[in-house]
Amino acid sequence: MTEWVLKCTVCGTERRLDVGFNLAVFKGRIVLYCRKCRANREHRILGYMDGDRLRPPEEISSPDIID
Ligand SMILES: [Zn+2]
Repeated sequence: MTEWVLKCTVCGTERRLDVGFNLAVFKGRIVLYCRKCRANREHRILGYMDGDRLRPPEEISSPDIID
């Protein structure tokens, strides 16, 4: 699993999302439910957590990092 860091483009709330696939395929944007907005909002994909470091999505080069 990869922990992604996403930010709501409307209210600025950051959230983490644990998923088993590469969010980089969404080209930096993904629509998800925002608890603060209480609506589906576009979120910017800030990157993914590599240990305690945030890395930009472009640094995922191979799908086998994901598992
Ligand atoms: Zn929001």
